[in-house]
Amino acid sequence: MVTRLDPKLFDAHREITWCPGCGDFAILRGLKLALAELDIPPHGALVVSGIGCGSKLADYIKINGFMTIHGRPLPIATGAKLANTDLHVIVVNGDGDSYGIGGNHFVQACRRNPNITQIVENNQIYGLTKGQYSPTSDKGLVTTTSPDGSIEVAFNPVAIALAAGAGFIARAFAGEPKHMAQMIAEGMRHKGYSLIDVLQPCVTFNRVNTYDWYRKRIYHLEDAGYHWADRGAAWAKAHEWEEQIPVGVIYRNDNLPTYEDQVRALEDGNPLSRITELFRHPEPQQYESLKREFL
Ligand code: SF4
Repeated sequence: MVTRLDPKLFDAHREITWCPGCGDFAILRGLKLALAELDIPPHGALVVSGIGCGSKLADYIKINGFMTIHGRPLPIATGAKLANTDLHVIVVNGDGDSYGIGGNHFVQACRRNPNITQIVENNQIYGLTKGQYSPTSDKGLVTTTSPDGSIEVAFNPVAIALAAGAGFIARAFAGEPKHMAQMIAEGMRHKGYSLIDVLQPCVTFNRVNTYDWYRKRIYHLEDAGYHWADRGAAWAKAHEWEEQIPVGVIYRNDNLPTYEDQVRALEDGNPLSRITELFRHPEPQQYESLKREFL
């Protein structure tokens, strides 16, 4: 990956409190690489997160940041995008925040198609609260809240995103930060909602889904002659797990209208630019009309 900006531009110089070896370090690195590759300066991007180990990422990167309440980053990110359509809006949250507490928002974002990118740090466990089973925990996983093994069927984010109409679905592995950065950059290039589900080992609480466990199973779709345009083939890939796990772009459709494309209030341009322009050159009539429209 050739980066146009120096990734160090996004260093926040904060103390990072993740456990040594946590997959979240690679995701932080991957996001910086993707922003650098896409030539997006710190003021041009917003990261919105929720609650959980991974959501601390918003504090560890030097771009605009908003840590929201548990499970709610997607609606807030959608609102931010509607208010400033020029902003590159990225949601970063864990599997609990995204698929559990925020599960309904996840489904709605897939079908609404706002032009934002969601990176899910999927470690198949709740790490911050010390190791409870999460929506993506495999059936049978022994955790602090499932001492006899989880009895729930695991949430399948790829299949659910596909069924809900998402136009870009990719999976990456935190053990491969450069490939992950490519997936993030591809997702951000896609016009519309993009999901990057990242397999992110929690080295402290998930002793089953480790780096080695994933390394033995993952394979790259781009090396397997797979093409992401076929929805039926994507549905089959969404259900590969256990023996072999595909990473790469699973499904992509660049022809879907975005949510912003269809909001009439945006037909006259970016609301933030219009309001900024108004304050620069106030005209009473225009001011009154905007006041009626937005206040
Ligand atoms: Fe990472 Fe798990 Fe530690 Fe949280 S508890 S920082 S997810 S290794």
